[in-house]
Amino acid sequence: MSELGDLYQEVILDHNKRPRNFRALPGADHRAVGHNPLCGDRMTIYLKLDGDVVTEVTFEGSGCAISKASASMMTESIKGKTRAQVEALFKKFHGLVTGEPPASGADLGKLVVFSGVSEFPVRVKCATLAWHTLRAALEERTEAVSTE
Ligand code: ZN
Repeated sequence: MSELGDLYQEVILDHNKRPRNFRALPGADHRAVGHNPLCGDRMTIYLKLDGDVVTEVTFEGSGCAISKASASMMTESIKGKTRAQVEALFKKFHGLVTGEPPASGADLGKLVVFSGVSEFPVRVKCATLAWHTLRAALEERTEAVSTE
């Protein structure tokens, strides 16, 4: 964690310690389970949609600080967004953490704190687990998502 830079590290540690939207969601109409065997991160993402718009999103699970902070910040970032906006944001976030040139179109906002992850390939799976699981939930895939 010391590798991520002080300010960014602080934000990530705060979300790890006090994850936002960290609970089950009764009446969720979408749900998926994700697992990162490399690190041991596990999580369930719950969603409520109104038409095409994410109106509620929560998560539960256990894992390292990066996976938990990423899930916490993801829930804050996608609420109120359409499926297309979520997909655009995922692509941009994926580019950020894998060190690809930034795609245009979506504003990452606070998610830039994960930029340091690109220097640590093993952490990319931690940072993207919530997003892959979210995608599975949106697509109503029932098998558990694995990053391996
Ligand atoms: Zn992890």
